Amino acid sequence: MPITKHRTETRAEALLTFSNQDFVVTISPLLLRPKKRIHIRLTKNFPVLQELANKLRARMQGIAKIDLAVWMVLVLIFFSNISLADRTATPPALPVTIPPDSSTKENPGAPKQYSLWPPQQIKETLYKWQNDYPDFVRLTSAQDAYGLPTAGSSDDCPYDEDVPGCKNYILTVQDYVKHPEGSDTSQRLPEVFLSGELHGNERVGPTAVMEAATLLLAAADCDAKPRKTKGHSFNSEKSSDWDAALKAAKQCRKDMEAMGIDDVHRKWLARLVSTRRIVIVPTANALGYFQNKREEGQSDPNRDFPYDIQDPKDCMKTIAGRTLNELFRQHMFQLSLTFHGGMEVVGYEWGAPTWLGHLSPDDQAESVIGAAYSQYGGSFATSPVYKFGTMNDLVYYVRG
Ligand SMILES: [Zn+2]
Repeated sequence: MPITKHRTETRAEALLTFSNQDFVVTISPLLLRPKKRIHIRLTKNFPVLQELANKLRARMQGIAKIDLAVWMVLVLIFFSNISLADRTATPPALPVTIPPDSSTKENPGAPKQYSLWPPQQIKETLYKWQNDYPDFVRLTSAQDAYGLPTAGSSDDCPYDEDVPGCKNYILTVQDYVKHPEGSDTSQRLPEVFLSGELHGNERVGPTAVMEAATLLLAAADCDAKPRKTKGHSFNSEKSSDWDAALKAAKQCRKDMEAMGIDDVHRKWLARLVSTRRIVIVPTANALGYFQNKREEGQSDPNRDFPYDIQDPKDCMKTIAGRTLNELFRQHMFQLSLTFHGGMEVVGYEWGAPTWLGHLSPDDQAESVIGAAYSQYGGSFATSPVYKFGTMNDLVYYVRG
């Protein structure tokens, strides 16, 4: 099927352009370099892809009406100041960087020492956030949201008391005051997906996404203070309530400052929350993470997707795979990220044998984003900056 090239007339059109005939989607990244278009080709042959194309088309109808800045922010974070035309040049610094956490009073200025989160701590923290940040999070599980069974037996994940086995938690971070569920603006939020792991013995990812969410939520919550009490107006608010709210607002700003996050950084983090929907699955392979095992039971979730497989029955055997499948059917993620262990590399499509020797349609965007991750992630004393490139080139290819 030929890829149709479109000439786009306006910036809004440049964002997403469709061909009715073959569901070609042209995404320009964008606004910054309108001539460098990226082609994502969705074929007619797959009902799921057709569904995605329809969703994109629905989104397209609204896009000219909404504030393009919402899209700009998403793109600017990753594309800011990076020239697509000159990838060899060193990308300039991001407009805002987060300084190292120096929160301990005893040792001010010291980098924060992270430690891996045990699975029970992840679960308890998710519930705590549900309680502490009702304006910013919704918590569910693949079992509650999609009716999926659990993986494992009653010996596994005993903290999930209501079921035998392990629940697969799904956290959504969104500004539910500014963008209430079901509202027009909520439906048009750019969507980002973060997955902590697919292989249970590759341990860093769940901690990385939980720490990132900790930072985002603390900043968003603090930046929203002082906020009027639910059900009250500012006028009818008792002055003692208002004084307490004001005090809390000042205190949390002070606390964040002590962590090395000043006003500018706090507002930047809060903006990331208020201009997106961020869906986080800390442990997609919840059983594997609990057991510290690569597989979920006998199956490898990272070979379990309906992509480039030779036997159509040879997929969707794991709850991890089915959880992600449901999420991708429900959402239209613009960007997503997952973590593995074993090597230091930023990898992206293609990582499939059928596409050996080919670049993916959005290779240009992915390589720029990969370069930015590598550049801004930096190096350690014991290892250089991360390499970035396609999984076919730098990692290996797999089916499913
Ligand atoms: Zn892995």
